[in-house]
Amino acid sequence: MPDSKSKEAAPAPDAQAAPLEKPLREVHWLLPQRVRQLERFGLSTVGDLLTHFPRRYEDRRQFDSFPRDESEKPVCVCGLVTKTAAKRFGGWRRMFEVTLTDAREESTHAFTGSLVCRWFNVHFVQKMIATGHRLVVYGRPKRRGKQIVIDHPEFEVVENDEEVSIHLKRIVPIHPATEGITSRMLRSWIYRLLQELPPGAGIESPLPSTLAQLSYPDALRGVHFPEDNDALEAARRELVLAEFFEMQLYVAARRAETVTRPGEPHCGPGRLLEKLHDALPFPLTGAQKRAIEEIRADLATSRPMNRLLHGDVGSGKTLVALSAMLLAVEAGFQAALMAPTQILADQHFLNFKRLLEPLGVRVALRTGARQEDTALPLFDEQAWTAAIRDEDNQRRAGLLKQRDDEPQILVGTHALLYEGVRFSRLGLAVIDEQHKFGVMQRAALMRQPVMPDVLVMTATPIPRTLTMTVFGDLDVSTLDELPANRGRIVTAARDASKLPDAIAFIQKHLAEGRQVYVVYPLIEESAKLEAKAAAAEYEKWKTAFAPYRCELLHGRIAPDEKDAIMERFRKNESQVLVATTVIEVGIDVPNATIMLIENAERFGLAQLHQLRGRVGRGQHKSYCILIHNADTPEGLEKMKTLEATCDGFEIAEADLRLRGPGDLLGTAQSGLPPLKLGDVIADAQLMRMARKAATAIFASDPHLAKPEHRRFKKMLAEQRKLILSQVS
Ligand code: ADP
Ligand code: MG
Repeated sequence: MPDSKSKEAAPAPDAQAAPLEKPLREVHWLLPQRVRQLERFGLSTVGDLLTHFPRRYEDRRQFDSFPRDESEKPVCVCGLVTKTAAKRFGGWRRMFEVTLTDAREESTHAFTGSLVCRWFNVHFVQKMIATGHRLVVYGRPKRRGKQIVIDHPEFEVVENDEEVSIHLKRIVPIHPATEGITSRMLRSWIYRLLQELPPGAGIESPLPSTLAQLSYPDALRGVHFPEDNDALEAARRELVLAEFFEMQLYVAARRAETVTRPGEPHCGPGRLLEKLHDALPFPLTGAQKRAIEEIRADLATSRPMNRLLHGDVGSGKTLVALSAMLLAVEAGFQAALMAPTQILADQHFLNFKRLLEPLGVRVALRTGARQEDTALPLFDEQAWTAAIRDEDNQRRAGLLKQRDDEPQILVGTHALLYEGVRFSRLGLAVIDEQHKFGVMQRAALMRQPVMPDVLVMTATPIPRTLTMTVFGDLDVSTLDELPANRGRIVTAARDASKLPDAIAFIQKHLAEGRQVYVVYPLIEESAKLEAKAAAAEYEKWKTAFAPYRCELLHGRIAPDEKDAIMERFRKNESQVLVATTVIEVGIDVPNATIMLIENAERFGLAQLHQLRGRVGRGQHKSYCILIHNADTPEGLEKMKTLEATCDGFEIAEADLRLRGPGDLLGTAQSGLPPLKLGDVIADAQLMRMARKAATAIFASDPHLAKPEHRRFKKMLAEQRKLILSQVS
């Protein structure tokens, strides 16, 4: 295997040695005009064209019979053009109509009826089709009076008998085409290029021999011109695996990149942890125990931890984080938890204090607005850095000892990272809802004298298929189990006309002493309009829920005031909290048992699920009422999914399905995506194989990760953002 650098520096690749890198310009039988068109389409080498994969296939060994009625399923038929007609309608608009009769040679008792194909306002079609032509058409038949028609079918004129072996009597590939280049042309060119490939030599499979089952040229032949469906399946498997393997090499390289400096172990024996767990009024869930053990193993090694902890709202991530922090504290380090907002930092701080003070662990809060407990004493950073440099552990211990009064656990917002906050010996940093933090802030955390262990938490449940890819550079712990005592959340989606019923229902629960969240989507962008919309909203709900006390929370309210509002709600001094989505992920008010979401169709599936997670946190049965105006199949599907399940992982999978892989997985974007064939969801099994192999191979030979694998970088970064931004 040549080393990647020398390969990069090499002059124009020798076509003999690397036939796939040969520019199309040097293919003598391709006209320069065509080459230019292909280049504009993003295809400039033989390899580009050969990895321009079919988007579907037509089985032209056996055409469908002529449709006798309409059907949802498209048909692929071969017909003889018996009549063409150009018609005008609606003044200047034009329609081109072609009548076909069944032209299957093999059909002895073929349906003798005809099929009409119509094109509206597409002038070029008229120039391509004439009476007497044989035509292959593909499309969805509809009934129009007595006629069966297909509007705007995909079509191909069968031109001459020489090319029958390419275009007929086989499983025929339909390649993505572009202006001026038809899928028929692409098929011919690819066919010829495949024939001209030198046998064997020079084309290495990207796959290691343990995974490869076909030679790479055979896989390419099989995917473009399969003998039968089995051959297609085998070829596709090979190529998808190859793509995934390269992607996983990139992921492995990225994972290695994050470990730029050695760390140190940060793990105590676990006595504090036991004490904490013994003091809890409930047992840990199995998932919590598993996650704690995974983290504990990371903390115990000197390889810096870079772990993602994900799980539904309410799955108990905080306790897992706290357990990890105690292990670090017990080993003599500080641990920090950064929350995305002040409200959440406050909540964590109070919670930690309550749990940790009996254990004698010192906790402090640092946010932009508040400095509670002792101010951090100034730390002799120079002495500390010198001690680390000289690996003088005694001196280090001495420096630490002077600091008996310093907090062992720090809770804060991102202000923890600047504003003079110094960590004397940061062993573990926990970042809650990481997507709200920028990369810079994370980098600031990394500037510690010794690399701390990092635990990132997110309430977005990430389907397993994506933890392997999009988050493949992190170690992942999953909380896929909710605490047993959780009251169920009953979800009901109701048409907007049912709002009065919902209000009556809520009134009843208010009378029983419960509290309520009302969420409405933000419509106006500007501050002024937002305030106005919010005010109107508030009046409406205040009236509806009188005499109970209603308060309003939105993005323009000052932080202090926001805190006060939350605090009153927490203390049940107000019973109804009307809010935009600013009610933070993770807000915990067990007595709030109803969430009403207005215009629910405007929120994403994952976001609705996140919002719903604010209720169902106590013993009482909880309800989520989705008031909606959904009228699209997707919108209704969204509502149905939420009614059917509370499992965040199921919802995440449904979300992926609903949005389609193209949206998320880089398969259907314009331009040429790095994954041309593989579907991260449907081909998850292959991804697992590729990951396993790439991880093992990268460990033994990091050079296998090549600079060109960086093409996956953008795709993964975008997907990451997309997935995490579902919760905002
Ligand atoms: P999240 O994963 O959303 O951050 P939290 O950590 O805020 O969830 O936990 C939600 C609530 O569940 C808290 O009140 C917490 O004390 C409680 N909790 C955590 N673990 C358990 C458990 N194993 N059994 C019962 N309740 C638990
Ligand atoms: Mg949380």
